[in-house]
Amino acid sequence: MRGIVWFRRDLRLHDQPALTAACRECDEIIPLFVFDDSLLQSHVFGAACVNFMLGCLQELSMSLAERGVVLRWRRGNPVEEVVRAAREWKADALYWNRDYEPATIERDRAVQQRLAQTGVVVRTFKDHVVFESEEIRGATGDPLQRYSAYRTRWWAKWQATKPSPLPIPRAMTASKNAVFPASPPLPSALELGYDLVTPWIEPGERNAKKRLQWFIEGPIHTYGNGRNMPGIDGSSRLSPHFRFGTVSACTAISAALGAFAKGGRASRADVMIWIDELVWREFFQQVLSAFPRVVNGPFRNAAVPPAREPGPERNRLFQAWCDGKTGFPIVDAGMRQLNQTGWMHNRVRMVVASFLVKDLRLDWQSGERYFMQRLLDADVAANNGNWQWCAATGTDAMRGYRIFNPVLQSKKFDPDGAYIRAYVPELSGVATRWIHEPHVMSLDEQGRVGCRIGADYPLPLVDHAQARREYLDLGQQLVTR
Ligand SMILES: Cc1cc2nc3c(=O)[nH]c(=O)nc-3n(C[C@H](O)[C@H](O)[C@H](O)COP(=O)(O)OP(=O)(O)OC[C@H]3O[C@@H](n4cnc5c(N)ncnc54)[C@H](O)[C@@H]3O)c2cc1C
Repeated sequence: MRGIVWFRRDLRLHDQPALTAACRECDEIIPLFVFDDSLLQSHVFGAACVNFMLGCLQELSMSLAERGVVLRWRRGNPVEEVVRAAREWKADALYWNRDYEPATIERDRAVQQRLAQTGVVVRTFKDHVVFESEEIRGATGDPLQRYSAYRTRWWAKWQATKPSPLPIPRAMTASKNAVFPASPPLPSALELGYDLVTPWIEPGERNAKKRLQWFIEGPIHTYGNGRNMPGIDGSSRLSPHFRFGTVSACTAISAALGAFAKGGRASRADVMIWIDELVWREFFQQVLSAFPRVVNGPFRNAAVPPAREPGPERNRLFQAWCDGKTGFPIVDAGMRQLNQTGWMHNRVRMVVASFLVKDLRLDWQSGERYFMQRLLDADVAANNGNWQWCAATGTDAMRGYRIFNPVLQSKKFDPDGAYIRAYVPELSGVATRWIHEPHVMSLDEQGRVGCRIGADYPLPLVDHAQARREYLDLGQQLVTR
């Protein structure tokens, strides 16, 4: 039997259910990746993400080649390309791991329908999450809409089933069919229509493994505090790897649980906090899967103040936010980190999102789109879920009208300004006591440190206290109306 393994967001060999099943059931396997032309042309994702994906594919291709198997690739409409590949290569079966984005579900259904007419067997597998939406349900069988309830059931399910990662298949047999033309090298980012950039986080399964090991041996044991400090390397930075599946959630959680043994009682809480972040990830995947409407609008019709009307003022504010020129150093450092590296610290993501929605009163979907275009880890479920959380329209909305104060957040989580100085060089000479709100420096002080506010670094775009009051007043009017 000849089987095609269609790789998508699962670019690894270890704990890879579709690949494992194909190797078990087929005499010959043909790994395939398809570059989706219309997705690439839409530029929903940016150069950082595309370059990272290509790095992962390069490594996957080498790992397969070491085992005597060639990764083949095609470019075009994935439905047409996969169906054509199955026909041309006379495949008996097609294997893939499931995805939960509405557009992808539709695409996969189309492939399945087309292949049903040709007799090619389609086998699909759970991979991207430990538990799919249908496996974690409330007492009435409905999808859960609160993270806390979801988390309780997720852990009960883990305890009951104790999942463990699959090993790399021992034997992979390449197709011996001589009619196969040699596979050309993978395309470059330029050939796909994107700039060439070196991914800030190293791509590929080997790097994911190294990073996980480094994290499990060190920072996980202080994660409870470390995760909030953008100036230190306190979180795993594995998000792009989870996004492209160079490490599975099951592998990471199993490794973290194994860290209990090494860390002793003191680190147990930290390890659990980290695993809970992966449960959040699964929660947002199940929200997307069960409520696909979230991609087009709010999860719930919350009484939140309306966004500012379109027009030049809105555009000016949005551009300043995107460019990291708001005059709020922590916001600017975050946006510049995103623009320069394709990644932003989670605490700062929350601060910049709150600032966009509450201080500038701009629509959260603009922020969501900008993040998708810039992030290495751009993921529909996590991005949408978190933006809706920050905008108070999501499943677990921020309670009441909670509004982050960017200056207090900065003082608390970047106390010495190391993060700000790393990304806002104009402020590098500013003393720590002024770094969080440099506009309060005297003119003398500004001259002394060589940073004139309003010239070298912008004045604050808004008065936070006033913006907060206006937002709350607008919210109050909606409630009492
Ligand atoms: C406005 C906003 C947008 C976001 N957009 C994305 C996105 O597009 N893609 C993305 O992967 N994450 C997104 N996040 C979640 C979070 O910021 C990143 O997952 C995290 O910063 C990645 O860093 P890390 O790998 O060091 O995480 P760690 O702290 O080491 O956490 C481990 C893993 O858990 C998952 N995780 C952690 N926090 C969250 C969370 N709040 N929601 C969902 N999963 C989480 C990630 O897969 C992460 O790699 C967003 C958060 C906010 C506030």
